[in-house]
Amino acid sequence: MRLTLLGSGDARQVPVYNCQCAACERARLQPAYRRGPCSALIECGSQRWLIDSGYTDLCERFPPHSFSGILQTHYHADHAQGLLHLRWGQGLVIPVHGPADPEGLADLYKHPGILDFSQPFSAFEQRQLGELSVTALPLNHSKLTFGYLLEGAGRCIAYLTDTIGVPADSAAVLTRQPLDLLVLDCSMAPQPVAPRNHNDLTRALETIELLQPEHAVLTHLGHSFDAWLMENLECLPANVSLAWDGRVL
Ligand SMILES: [Zn+2]
Ligand SMILES: [Zn+2]
Ligand SMILES: [Zn+2]
Repeated sequence: MRLTLLGSGDARQVPVYNCQCAACERARLQPAYRRGPCSALIECGSQRWLIDSGYTDLCERFPPHSFSGILQTHYHADHAQGLLHLRWGQGLVIPVHGPADPEGLADLYKHPGILDFSQPFSAFEQRQLGELSVTALPLNHSKLTFGYLLEGAGRCIAYLTDTIGVPADSAAVLTRQPLDLLVLDCSMAPQPVAPRNHNDLTRALETIELLQPEHAVLTHLGHSFDAWLMENLECLPANVSLAWDGRVL
């Protein structure tokens, strides 16, 4: 099983347009530090599923028939905007499995084109996609959002974004078996008051402590957090590291 982190940024991405902070300036000078929309590709046997679709050039990145479909965590624009163009393809059907969000994004449901939204996940549903088992787990976010427990080839990966903490019912499923890898929302440096929709580092580390993965990777990283990390990188525990665009796990 192979997970590729395609994008590791928050909704604003890095660099932020017209921001002169240290992290944004660094990203302009060194493209390796850029962060695109938070998304990933999970590969297991014959299965190749895109997790979220925030990149707006999906048609160039993924030629026809090069992937099985899309696991959508939720329908905020930074996770779903790539679907707005992809849908206008022809001659194929792309399954999009995600939460049954009555609103979706813009007119996606009204004009789905080649996208098939007809099989949404229910909360805690486990679905077998070839060699890959996928379980949808509700998260704490401003829109109906699922994290995914991905199991196959003897490995176990949890992909949890966007969220602050993890609901107790979802944590119970995640602690049933040892996690090889946890990919977790951590958008912000430590905040004095708990944020509402995303983890700061304090809450992310609490969740890692709760779920006890062998390794944790922080993603959905904002530019202010990147700037803070430039000064405080040693604050991460040994089994916790940062996502970057293109990182293969
Ligand atoms: Zn997001
Ligand atoms: Zn900045
Ligand atoms: Zn979101």
